[in-house]
Amino acid sequence: MTVIQPAASHFINGAYVEDTRGTPMPVLYPATGETIATLHAATPQLIEKAIESAKAAQPAWAALSGTERGRILRRAADIFRARNHELSVLETYDTGKPLQETLVADATSGADALEYFGSLSSSLTGEYIPLGGDWVYTIREALGLCVGIGAWNYPTQIACWKAAPALACGNAMIFKPSEVTPLCALKVAEILSEAGLPDGIFQVLQGAGEVGAPLVTDPRVDKVSLTGSVPTGKKVYAAAAAQMKHVTMELGGKSPMVVFEDANIDDAVGGAILGNFYSTGQVCSNGTRVYVHASIRDVFLKRLKERLGAVVMGDPQDEAVNFGPMVSAAQRDITLSYIAKGQAEGATLFHGGKAVDGKGFFIEPTVFTDVTDEMTIAREEIFGPVMCVLTFEEEAEVIARANASDYGLAAGVFTADLTRAHRVVGALEAGTCFINTYNLAPVEVPFGGVKSSGVGRENSKAAIEHYSQLKSVYVAMGPVDAPF
Ligand code: NDP
Repeated sequence: MTVIQPAASHFINGAYVEDTRGTPMPVLYPATGETIATLHAATPQLIEKAIESAKAAQPAWAALSGTERGRILRRAADIFRARNHELSVLETYDTGKPLQETLVADATSGADALEYFGSLSSSLTGEYIPLGGDWVYTIREALGLCVGIGAWNYPTQIACWKAAPALACGNAMIFKPSEVTPLCALKVAEILSEAGLPDGIFQVLQGAGEVGAPLVTDPRVDKVSLTGSVPTGKKVYAAAAAQMKHVTMELGGKSPMVVFEDANIDDAVGGAILGNFYSTGQVCSNGTRVYVHASIRDVFLKRLKERLGAVVMGDPQDEAVNFGPMVSAAQRDITLSYIAKGQAEGATLFHGGKAVDGKGFFIEPTVFTDVTDEMTIAREEIFGPVMCVLTFEEEAEVIARANASDYGLAAGVFTADLTRAHRVVGALEAGTCFINTYNLAPVEVPFGGVKSSGVGRENSKAAIEHYSQLKSVYVAMGPVDAPF
Protein backbone atom coordinates (compact mmCIF):
# COMPACT_ATOMS: atom_id res chain seq x y z
CA MET A 1 0.00 0.00 0.00
CA THR A 2 1.26 3.45 -0.94
CA VAL A 3 1.68 6.13 1.71
CA ILE A 4 2.33 9.73 0.64
CA GLN A 5 2.18 11.41 4.03
CA PRO A 6 3.56 14.97 3.87
CA ALA A 7 5.76 16.28 6.69
CA ALA A 8 2.68 18.01 8.14
CA SER A 9 -0.73 19.30 7.06
CA HIS A 10 0.00 23.01 6.75
CA PHE A 11 2.81 25.30 5.66
CA ILE A 12 2.89 28.40 7.86
CA ASN A 13 5.55 31.08 8.21
CA GLY A 14 8.15 29.08 6.27
CA ALA A 15 7.67 25.70 7.96
CA TYR A 16 5.49 22.61 7.99
CA VAL A 17 3.07 22.82 10.91
CA GLU A 18 0.74 20.21 12.38
CA ASP A 19 -2.15 20.50 14.79
CA THR A 20 -3.87 17.15 15.23
CA ARG A 21 -6.80 18.82 17.00
CA GLY A 22 -8.08 19.80 13.53
CA THR A 23 -10.69 17.62 11.82
CA PRO A 24 -8.95 14.58 10.25
CA MET A 25 -8.88 14.67 6.43
CA PRO A 26 -8.12 11.28 4.86
CA VAL A 27 -6.58 11.60 1.39
CA LEU A 28 -7.63 8.83 -1.01
CA TYR A 29 -5.82 7.68 -4.15
CA PRO A 30 -8.64 7.86 -6.71
CA ALA A 31 -7.33 4.86 -8.66
CA THR A 32 -7.65 2.47 -5.71
CA GLY A 33 -9.69 4.24 -3.05
CA GLU A 34 -6.87 3.57 -0.56
CA THR A 35 -6.03 6.16 2.08
CA ILE A 36 -2.56 7.45 1.19
CA ALA A 37 -2.31 10.20 3.80
CA THR A 38 -4.23 11.72 6.67
CA LEU A 39 -4.10 15.47 7.20
CA HIS A 40 -5.89 17.72 9.66
CA ALA A 41 -7.98 20.78 8.91
CA ALA A 42 -6.62 24.07 10.20
CA THR A 43 -7.76 25.09 13.66
CA PRO A 44 -8.73 28.73 14.38
CA GLN A 45 -5.33 29.14 16.10
CA LEU A 46 -3.49 28.14 12.91
CA ILE A 47 -5.64 30.41 10.76
CA GLU A 48 -4.73 33.28 13.10
CA LYS A 49 -1.05 32.37 13.02
CA ALA A 50 -1.04 32.34 9.20
CA ILE A 51 -2.79 35.70 8.93
CA GLU A 52 -0.46 37.31 11.49
CA SER A 53 2.62 35.89 9.74
CA ALA A 54 1.44 37.18 6.38
CA LYS A 55 0.64 40.64 7.71
CA ALA A 56 4.05 40.87 9.39
CA ALA A 57 5.99 39.71 6.32
CA GLN A 58 4.16 41.40 3.43
CA PRO A 59 5.39 45.03 3.75
CA ALA A 60 9.06 44.01 3.45
CA TRP A 61 8.24 41.75 0.48
CA ALA A 62 6.42 44.60 -1.27
CA ALA A 63 9.37 46.90 -0.54
CA LEU A 64 11.80 44.70 -2.51
CA SER A 65 12.41 45.65 -6.11
CA GLY A 66 10.41 43.77 -8.72
CA THR A 67 13.66 42.29 -9.98
CA GLU A 68 14.42 40.80 -6.56
CA ARG A 69 10.92 39.33 -6.21
CA GLY A 70 11.03 38.03 -9.76
CA ARG A 71 14.37 36.31 -9.24
CA ILE A 72 12.86 34.18 -6.44
CA LEU A 73 9.84 33.23 -8.54
CA ARG A 74 12.02 32.28 -11.50
CA ARG A 75 14.28 30.22 -9.25
CA ALA A 76 11.18 28.37 -8.03
CA ALA A 77 10.19 27.76 -11.68
CA ASP A 78 13.58 26.14 -12.29
CA ILE A 79 13.15 23.88 -9.25
CA PHE A 80 9.69 22.87 -10.49
CA ARG A 81 11.12 21.89 -13.86
CA ALA A 82 14.03 19.98 -12.33
CA ARG A 83 11.61 18.01 -10.12
CA ASN A 84 8.86 17.63 -12.71
CA HIS A 85 8.74 13.84 -12.54
CA GLU A 86 8.43 13.67 -8.76
CA LEU A 87 5.82 16.46 -8.72
CA SER A 88 3.84 14.80 -11.50
CA VAL A 89 3.75 11.50 -9.61
CA LEU A 90 2.42 13.38 -6.59
CA GLU A 91 -0.20 15.20 -8.72
CA THR A 92 -1.33 11.81 -10.01
CA TYR A 93 -1.69 10.46 -6.46
CA ASP A 94 -3.57 13.61 -5.40
CA THR A 95 -6.00 13.71 -8.36
CA GLY A 96 -5.89 10.34 -10.16
CA LYS A 97 -5.07 12.07 -13.46
CA PRO A 98 -2.82 9.92 -15.70
CA LEU A 99 0.92 10.48 -15.30
CA GLN A 100 0.96 10.84 -19.09
CA GLU A 101 -0.98 14.10 -18.55
CA THR A 102 0.53 15.35 -15.31
CA LEU A 103 4.06 15.11 -16.73
CA VAL A 104 3.17 17.83 -19.25
CA ALA A 105 0.28 19.82 -17.77
CA ASP A 106 0.69 20.52 -14.08
CA ALA A 107 4.09 21.29 -12.53
CA THR A 108 5.14 22.53 -15.98
CA SER A 109 2.17 24.89 -16.14
CA GLY A 110 2.93 26.06 -12.59
CA ALA A 111 6.55 26.68 -13.62
CA ASP A 112 5.39 28.67 -16.64
CA ALA A 113 3.31 30.94 -14.39
CA LEU A 114 6.19 31.46 -11.95
CA GLU A 115 8.58 32.20 -14.79
CA TYR A 116 6.17 34.52 -16.62
CA PHE A 117 5.19 36.62 -13.60
CA GLY A 118 8.74 36.42 -12.24
CA SER A 119 9.87 38.00 -15.50
CA LEU A 120 7.10 40.58 -15.51
CA SER A 121 7.56 41.80 -11.94
CA SER A 122 10.58 44.00 -12.71
CA SER A 123 8.60 45.97 -15.28
CA LEU A 124 5.53 46.68 -13.15
CA THR A 125 5.37 50.44 -12.90
CA GLY A 126 2.95 53.31 -12.73
CA GLU A 127 2.77 55.99 -15.38
CA TYR A 128 3.44 59.70 -15.86
CA ILE A 129 0.45 61.75 -17.00
CA PRO A 130 1.30 65.28 -18.21
CA LEU A 131 -1.46 67.86 -17.73
CA GLY A 132 0.16 70.86 -19.40
CA GLY A 133 1.95 72.26 -16.35
CA ASP A 134 0.62 70.16 -13.49
CA TRP A 135 1.23 66.45 -13.74
CA VAL A 136 0.20 63.15 -12.20
CA TYR A 137 2.10 60.00 -11.53
CA THR A 138 0.59 56.68 -10.57
CA ILE A 139 2.05 54.13 -8.20
CA ARG A 140 1.19 50.46 -8.68
CA GLU A 141 0.79 49.06 -5.19
CA ALA A 142 0.24 45.58 -3.82
CA LEU A 143 -3.22 44.87 -2.38
CA GLY A 144 -1.77 43.30 0.79
CA LEU A 145 -2.98 39.86 1.84
CA CYS A 146 -4.66 37.67 -0.79
CA VAL A 147 -6.50 34.44 -0.12
CA GLY A 148 -6.47 31.76 -2.83
CA ILE A 149 -9.01 28.94 -2.71
CA GLY A 150 -8.64 26.06 -5.11
CA ALA A 151 -10.72 23.37 -6.80
CA TRP A 152 -9.49 19.76 -6.94
CA ASN A 153 -8.82 19.26 -10.65
CA TYR A 154 -5.50 21.12 -11.01
CA PRO A 155 -4.09 21.53 -7.48
CA THR A 156 -0.55 22.54 -8.50
CA GLN A 157 -1.56 24.70 -11.42
CA ILE A 158 -4.29 26.56 -9.52
CA ALA A 159 -1.93 27.32 -6.61
CA CYS A 160 0.71 28.67 -9.02
CA TRP A 161 -1.70 30.58 -11.26
CA LYS A 162 -2.83 32.48 -8.16
CA ALA A 163 0.46 32.72 -6.27
CA ALA A 164 2.66 33.85 -9.16
CA PRO A 165 0.87 37.12 -10.05
CA ALA A 166 0.01 37.82 -6.40
CA LEU A 167 3.62 37.48 -5.27
CA ALA A 168 5.02 39.29 -8.32
CA CYS A 169 2.94 42.32 -7.32
CA GLY A 170 4.23 42.25 -3.73
CA ASN A 171 1.29 40.58 -1.98
CA ALA A 172 1.29 37.73 0.52
CA MET A 173 -1.00 34.77 -0.15
CA ILE A 174 -2.68 32.19 2.04
CA PHE A 175 -3.82 29.29 -0.14
CA LYS A 176 -6.47 26.78 0.83
CA PRO A 177 -6.52 23.77 -1.49
CA SER A 178 -9.62 21.67 -2.00
CA GLU A 179 -9.86 19.19 0.85
CA VAL A 180 -10.04 16.44 -1.80
CA THR A 181 -6.55 17.23 -3.16
CA PRO A 182 -4.50 18.79 -0.37
CA LEU A 183 -1.03 17.44 -1.16
CA CYS A 184 0.34 19.42 -4.12
CA ALA A 185 0.00 22.96 -2.75
CA LEU A 186 2.29 21.99 0.14
CA LYS A 187 5.02 21.23 -2.41
CA VAL A 188 4.43 24.62 -4.04
CA ALA A 189 5.01 26.29 -0.66
CA GLU A 190 8.07 24.14 0.07
CA ILE A 191 9.67 24.94 -3.30
CA LEU A 192 8.96 28.66 -3.07
CA SER A 193 10.59 28.63 0.35
CA GLU A 194 13.60 26.74 -1.00
CA ALA A 195 13.86 29.32 -3.79
CA GLY A 196 14.26 32.04 -1.17
CA LEU A 197 10.72 33.32 -0.59
CA PRO A 198 10.58 35.06 2.80
CA ASP A 199 8.60 33.24 5.51
CA GLY A 200 4.91 34.10 5.64
CA ILE A 201 4.56 35.21 2.00
CA PHE A 202 3.03 32.00 0.66
CA GLN A 203 1.29 29.76 3.17
CA VAL A 204 -1.00 26.76 2.88
CA LEU A 205 -3.88 25.98 5.22
CA GLN A 206 -5.90 22.79 4.82
CA GLY A 207 -9.58 22.25 5.34
CA ALA A 208 -12.98 22.34 3.73
CA GLY A 209 -15.30 25.31 3.25
CA GLU A 210 -15.26 25.99 7.00
CA VAL A 211 -11.58 26.98 6.75
CA GLY A 212 -12.12 28.97 3.55
CA ALA A 213 -15.06 30.95 4.93
CA PRO A 214 -13.27 32.65 7.89
CA LEU A 215 -10.38 33.56 5.59
CA VAL A 216 -12.78 35.22 3.17
CA THR A 217 -14.46 37.26 5.90
CA ASP A 218 -11.38 38.26 7.90
CA PRO A 219 -11.03 42.06 7.67
CA ARG A 220 -7.24 41.73 7.32
CA VAL A 221 -7.67 39.96 3.97
CA ASP A 222 -7.70 42.30 0.96
CA LYS A 223 -8.48 39.98 -1.91
CA VAL A 224 -10.05 36.58 -2.55
CA SER A 225 -9.34 34.49 -5.64
CA LEU A 226 -11.52 31.41 -5.94
CA THR A 227 -11.49 28.57 -8.43
CA GLY A 228 -14.61 26.53 -7.90
CA SER A 229 -18.24 26.00 -8.78
CA VAL A 230 -20.78 28.74 -9.46
CA PRO A 231 -22.78 28.16 -6.23
CA THR A 232 -19.61 28.44 -4.11
CA GLY A 233 -18.50 31.43 -6.20
CA LYS A 234 -21.74 33.27 -5.47
CA LYS A 235 -21.35 32.67 -1.73
CA VAL A 236 -17.70 33.70 -1.63
CA TYR A 237 -18.23 36.73 -3.88
CA ALA A 238 -21.09 37.94 -1.65
CA ALA A 239 -19.02 37.47 1.52
CA ALA A 240 -16.08 39.37 -0.02
CA ALA A 241 -18.35 42.13 -1.32
CA ALA A 242 -19.65 42.78 2.20
CA GLN A 243 -16.18 44.16 3.00
CA MET A 244 -15.53 45.57 -0.50
CA LYS A 245 -12.66 43.14 -1.08
CA HIS A 246 -11.16 42.56 -4.52
CA VAL A 247 -12.13 39.23 -6.09
CA THR A 248 -11.23 36.91 -8.92
CA MET A 249 -13.82 34.20 -9.55
CA GLU A 250 -12.84 31.32 -11.86
CA LEU A 251 -16.01 29.27 -11.95
CA GLY A 252 -17.70 26.55 -13.92
CA GLY A 253 -18.94 26.26 -17.47
CA LYS A 254 -21.04 24.39 -20.01
CA SER A 255 -19.12 25.47 -23.03
CA PRO A 256 -20.21 24.96 -26.64
CA MET A 257 -18.05 23.57 -29.41
CA VAL A 258 -19.40 24.15 -32.92
CA VAL A 259 -18.33 21.87 -35.78
CA PHE A 260 -19.28 23.24 -39.21
CA GLU A 261 -19.73 21.06 -42.28
CA ASP A 262 -16.38 22.13 -43.79
CA ALA A 263 -14.35 21.31 -40.65
CA ASN A 264 -11.41 18.93 -40.69
CA ILE A 265 -13.19 16.00 -39.07
CA ASP A 266 -10.13 14.53 -37.39
CA ASP A 267 -9.24 17.88 -35.82
CA ALA A 268 -12.83 18.39 -34.69
CA VAL A 269 -12.99 14.91 -33.17
CA GLY A 270 -9.60 15.51 -31.54
CA GLY A 271 -10.86 18.81 -30.11
CA ALA A 272 -13.99 17.13 -28.80
CA ILE A 273 -11.87 14.42 -27.15
CA LEU A 274 -9.55 17.00 -25.56
CA GLY A 275 -12.51 19.12 -24.51
CA ASN A 276 -14.45 16.28 -22.89
CA PHE A 277 -12.15 13.50 -21.78
CA TYR A 278 -8.80 15.07 -20.82
CA SER A 279 -8.45 14.83 -17.03
CA THR A 280 -11.45 12.48 -17.18
CA GLY A 281 -13.68 15.39 -18.10
CA GLN A 282 -12.86 17.36 -14.94
CA VAL A 283 -11.90 20.63 -16.65
CA CYS A 284 -13.85 23.85 -16.18
CA SER A 285 -13.52 25.04 -19.79
CA ASN A 286 -14.62 21.75 -21.36
CA GLY A 287 -16.66 21.96 -24.54
CA THR A 288 -19.37 19.62 -23.33
CA ARG A 289 -22.06 20.77 -25.77
CA VAL A 290 -20.73 19.60 -29.13
CA TYR A 291 -22.90 21.09 -31.90
CA VAL A 292 -22.20 19.15 -35.10
CA HIS A 293 -23.64 20.24 -38.44
CA ALA A 294 -26.37 17.75 -39.32
CA SER A 295 -24.76 16.91 -42.68
CA ILE A 296 -21.58 15.53 -41.02
CA ARG A 297 -23.10 14.00 -37.91
CA ASP A 298 -22.66 10.39 -39.01
CA VAL A 299 -19.07 10.73 -40.17
CA PHE A 300 -18.20 12.67 -36.98
CA LEU A 301 -19.70 9.96 -34.77
CA LYS A 302 -18.05 7.15 -36.74
CA ARG A 303 -14.62 8.71 -36.32
CA LEU A 304 -15.29 9.49 -32.65
CA LYS A 305 -16.25 5.87 -31.99
CA GLU A 306 -13.06 4.64 -33.67
CA ARG A 307 -10.88 6.93 -31.61
CA LEU A 308 -12.63 6.00 -28.37
CA GLY A 309 -11.36 2.49 -29.05
CA ALA A 310 -7.87 3.79 -28.18
CA VAL A 311 -8.81 4.67 -24.58
CA VAL A 312 -6.48 2.98 -22.11
CA MET A 313 -7.89 2.90 -18.58
CA GLY A 314 -5.92 1.61 -15.64
CA ASP A 315 -3.35 2.59 -13.04
CA PRO A 316 -2.73 6.27 -13.81
CA GLN A 317 0.89 5.95 -12.64
CA ASP A 318 1.44 3.75 -15.74
CA GLU A 319 2.48 6.11 -18.52
CA ALA A 320 0.61 4.03 -21.12
CA VAL A 321 -2.71 4.86 -19.43
CA ASN A 322 -4.53 7.81 -21.03
CA PHE A 323 -7.78 7.86 -19.05
CA GLY A 324 -7.81 7.90 -15.26
CA PRO A 325 -10.45 7.63 -12.53
CA MET A 326 -12.60 10.48 -11.31
CA VAL A 327 -11.24 12.36 -8.32
CA SER A 328 -13.65 10.91 -5.75
CA ALA A 329 -16.54 8.50 -5.26
CA ALA A 330 -18.80 11.52 -4.76
CA GLN A 331 -17.86 13.05 -8.12
CA ARG A 332 -18.25 9.66 -9.84
CA ASP A 333 -21.73 9.28 -8.35
CA ILE A 334 -22.75 12.80 -9.45
CA THR A 335 -21.63 11.92 -12.98
CA LEU A 336 -23.52 8.61 -12.93
CA SER A 337 -26.66 10.41 -11.79
CA TYR A 338 -26.37 12.79 -14.78
CA ILE A 339 -25.92 9.81 -17.11
CA ALA A 340 -29.11 8.30 -15.69
CA LYS A 341 -30.91 11.63 -16.21
CA GLY A 342 -29.71 11.80 -19.80
CA GLN A 343 -31.20 8.37 -20.49
CA ALA A 344 -34.41 9.17 -18.63
CA GLU A 345 -34.87 12.40 -20.62
CA GLY A 346 -34.51 10.60 -23.96
CA ALA A 347 -30.91 11.11 -25.09
CA THR A 348 -29.26 8.15 -26.82
CA LEU A 349 -26.34 6.59 -24.96
CA PHE A 350 -23.90 6.25 -27.86
CA HIS A 351 -20.81 5.17 -25.91
CA GLY A 352 -19.82 4.22 -22.35
CA GLY A 353 -22.08 5.22 -19.49
CA LYS A 354 -21.00 2.80 -16.78
CA ALA A 355 -18.82 2.84 -13.72
CA VAL A 356 -16.00 0.32 -13.93
CA ASP A 357 -16.15 -2.54 -11.44
CA GLY A 358 -13.30 -2.95 -9.02
CA LYS A 359 -11.22 -0.56 -7.03
CA GLY A 360 -11.09 3.16 -7.66
CA PHE A 361 -13.50 5.72 -9.03
CA PHE A 362 -13.39 4.81 -12.72
CA ILE A 363 -16.17 5.59 -15.13
CA GLU A 364 -16.23 5.02 -18.89
CA PRO A 365 -15.86 7.94 -21.30
CA THR A 366 -19.46 8.61 -22.22
CA VAL A 367 -21.10 10.10 -25.32
CA PHE A 368 -24.77 10.98 -25.69
CA THR A 369 -26.34 11.70 -29.09
CA ASP A 370 -29.81 13.02 -29.92
CA VAL A 371 -29.36 15.55 -27.14
CA THR A 372 -31.62 18.61 -27.13
CA ASP A 373 -30.88 21.98 -25.54
CA GLU A 374 -33.56 21.52 -22.88
CA MET A 375 -32.15 18.30 -21.43
CA THR A 376 -30.48 18.52 -18.02
CA ILE A 377 -27.23 17.06 -19.41
CA ALA A 378 -27.07 19.90 -21.97
CA ARG A 379 -27.71 22.65 -19.41
CA GLU A 380 -25.87 21.74 -16.20
CA GLU A 381 -22.16 21.38 -15.61
CA ILE A 382 -21.47 17.67 -14.99
CA PHE A 383 -17.70 17.89 -14.42
CA GLY A 384 -17.19 14.33 -15.57
CA PRO A 385 -16.44 12.54 -18.87
CA VAL A 386 -19.81 13.06 -20.54
CA MET A 387 -20.01 14.51 -24.06
CA CYS A 388 -23.33 15.70 -25.45
CA VAL A 389 -23.60 15.70 -29.25
CA LEU A 390 -26.29 17.97 -30.68
CA THR A 391 -26.96 18.83 -34.32
CA PHE A 392 -27.69 22.14 -36.08
CA GLU A 393 -28.45 23.43 -39.57
CA GLU A 394 -27.73 27.18 -39.65
CA GLU A 395 -24.98 29.45 -38.35
CA ALA A 396 -27.34 31.98 -36.73
CA GLU A 397 -29.29 29.15 -35.11
CA VAL A 398 -26.20 27.54 -33.57
CA ILE A 399 -24.87 30.87 -32.25
CA ALA A 400 -28.18 31.56 -30.51
CA ARG A 401 -28.27 28.05 -29.04
CA ALA A 402 -24.62 28.18 -27.97
CA ASN A 403 -25.24 31.47 -26.14
CA ALA A 404 -28.44 30.30 -24.43
CA SER A 405 -26.63 29.41 -21.20
CA ASP A 406 -25.94 31.18 -17.93
CA TYR A 407 -22.32 30.13 -18.31
CA GLY A 408 -19.71 31.77 -20.52
CA LEU A 409 -16.30 30.32 -19.83
CA ALA A 410 -15.12 29.03 -23.23
CA ALA A 411 -16.29 28.16 -26.74
CA GLY A 412 -14.82 26.47 -29.80
CA VAL A 413 -15.38 26.65 -33.55
CA PHE A 414 -14.15 24.15 -36.13
CA THR A 415 -14.36 25.33 -39.73
CA ALA A 416 -12.14 25.80 -42.78
CA ASP A 417 -13.80 29.16 -43.50
CA LEU A 418 -11.64 31.86 -41.88
CA THR A 419 -14.23 34.58 -42.20
CA ARG A 420 -16.91 32.47 -40.63
CA ALA A 421 -14.57 31.42 -37.79
CA HIS A 422 -13.94 35.03 -36.75
CA ARG A 423 -17.55 36.08 -37.28
CA VAL A 424 -18.81 33.26 -35.07
CA VAL A 425 -16.31 33.74 -32.22
CA GLY A 426 -17.17 37.44 -32.34
CA ALA A 427 -20.77 36.52 -31.55
CA LEU A 428 -20.10 33.83 -28.93
CA GLU A 429 -20.49 34.85 -25.27
CA ALA A 430 -17.35 33.36 -23.74
CA GLY A 431 -14.16 34.48 -22.02
CA THR A 432 -11.95 32.26 -24.19
CA CYS A 433 -12.66 31.09 -27.74
CA PHE A 434 -10.77 28.51 -29.75
CA ILE A 435 -10.62 28.25 -33.53
CA ASN A 436 -9.77 24.77 -34.83
CA THR A 437 -8.42 23.57 -31.48
CA TYR A 438 -9.66 23.32 -27.91
CA ASN A 439 -8.61 23.81 -24.27
CA LEU A 440 -5.16 25.30 -24.61
CA ALA A 441 -4.34 27.75 -21.81
CA PRO A 442 -0.80 29.14 -22.06
CA VAL A 443 0.21 31.60 -19.35
CA GLU A 444 0.57 34.49 -21.84
CA VAL A 445 -3.20 34.42 -22.53
CA PRO A 446 -5.94 35.90 -20.31
CA PHE A 447 -8.14 33.16 -18.83
CA GLY A 448 -11.54 33.65 -17.24
CA GLY A 449 -15.26 33.70 -17.84
CA VAL A 450 -18.19 35.96 -18.62
CA LYS A 451 -21.75 35.70 -17.27
CA SER A 452 -21.96 33.23 -14.36
CA SER A 453 -18.56 31.72 -15.18
CA GLY A 454 -16.71 34.37 -13.28
CA VAL A 455 -15.15 37.74 -12.73
CA GLY A 456 -11.59 38.79 -13.49
CA ARG A 457 -8.83 37.12 -15.47
CA GLU A 458 -5.97 34.85 -14.53
CA ASN A 459 -2.66 34.62 -16.40
CA SER A 460 -1.22 37.20 -18.83
CA LYS A 461 -0.65 40.87 -18.09
CA ALA A 462 -4.37 41.13 -17.32
CA ALA A 463 -3.84 39.29 -14.02
CA ILE A 464 -1.64 42.14 -12.79
CA GLU A 465 -4.70 44.41 -12.72
CA HIS A 466 -6.37 41.97 -10.34
CA TYR A 467 -3.46 41.74 -7.87
CA SER A 468 -2.47 45.41 -7.65
CA GLN A 469 -4.09 48.81 -7.32
CA LEU A 470 -3.15 52.24 -8.57
CA LYS A 471 -2.51 55.29 -6.43
CA SER A 472 -2.70 58.56 -8.39
CA VAL A 473 -0.54 61.44 -7.19
CA TYR A 474 -1.48 64.91 -8.46
CA VAL A 475 1.45 67.35 -8.49
CA ALA A 476 0.68 71.06 -8.75
CA MET A 477 3.33 73.22 -10.37
CA GLY A 478 1.70 76.62 -9.66
CA PRO A 479 -0.44 78.51 -7.15
CA VAL A 480 -3.76 77.07 -5.88
CA ASP A 481 -6.67 78.71 -7.67
CA ALA A 482 -9.50 78.70 -5.05
CA PRO A 483 -12.92 80.42 -5.60
CA PHE A 484 -12.68 82.47 -2.40
P1 NDP B 1 -16.33 23.88 -5.06
O1 NDP B 1 -17.03 25.11 -5.47
O2 NDP B 1 -17.09 22.83 -4.37
O3 NDP B 1 -15.10 24.26 -4.11
C1 NDP B 1 -14.09 25.17 -4.50
C2 NDP B 1 -13.27 25.54 -3.28
O4 NDP B 1 -14.03 26.41 -2.43
C3 NDP B 1 -12.87 24.35 -2.42
O5 NDP B 1 -11.57 24.56 -1.92
C4 NDP B 1 -13.91 24.42 -1.32
O6 NDP B 1 -13.47 23.75 -0.16
C5 NDP B 1 -14.02 25.90 -1.10
N1 NDP B 1 -15.24 26.36 -0.44
C6 NDP B 1 -16.46 25.76 -0.41
N2 NDP B 1 -17.34 26.52 0.27
C7 NDP B 1 -16.68 27.64 0.68
C8 NDP B 1 -17.04 28.81 1.41
N3 NDP B 1 -18.28 29.00 1.86
N4 NDP B 1 -16.09 29.75 1.65
C9 NDP B 1 -14.83 29.58 1.17
N5 NDP B 1 -14.43 28.49 0.48
C10 NDP B 1 -15.34 27.53 0.22
O7 NDP B 1 -15.64 23.34 -6.40
P2 NDP B 1 -14.93 21.95 -6.65
O8 NDP B 1 -13.74 21.83 -5.75
O9 NDP B 1 -15.95 20.88 -6.66
O10 NDP B 1 -14.36 22.17 -8.14
C11 NDP B 1 -15.12 21.98 -9.27
C12 NDP B 1 -15.65 23.31 -9.80
O11 NDP B 1 -14.55 24.21 -10.04
C13 NDP B 1 -16.34 23.17 -11.13
O12 NDP B 1 -17.51 23.93 -11.14
C14 NDP B 1 -15.34 23.74 -12.11
O13 NDP B 1 -15.91 24.21 -13.29
C15 NDP B 1 -14.69 24.80 -11.32
N6 NDP B 1 -13.37 25.12 -11.88
C16 NDP B 1 -13.20 26.34 -12.50
C17 NDP B 1 -11.99 26.64 -13.11
C18 NDP B 1 -11.78 27.96 -13.76
O14 NDP B 1 -10.62 28.38 -13.86
N7 NDP B 1 -12.79 28.66 -14.22
C19 NDP B 1 -10.88 25.68 -13.12
C20 NDP B 1 -11.17 24.47 -12.39
C21 NDP B 1 -12.37 24.21 -11.81
P3 NDP B 1 -13.72 22.15 0.00
O15 NDP B 1 -14.08 21.61 -1.34
O16 NDP B 1 -12.42 21.67 0.46
O17 NDP B 1 -14.84 22.04 0.97
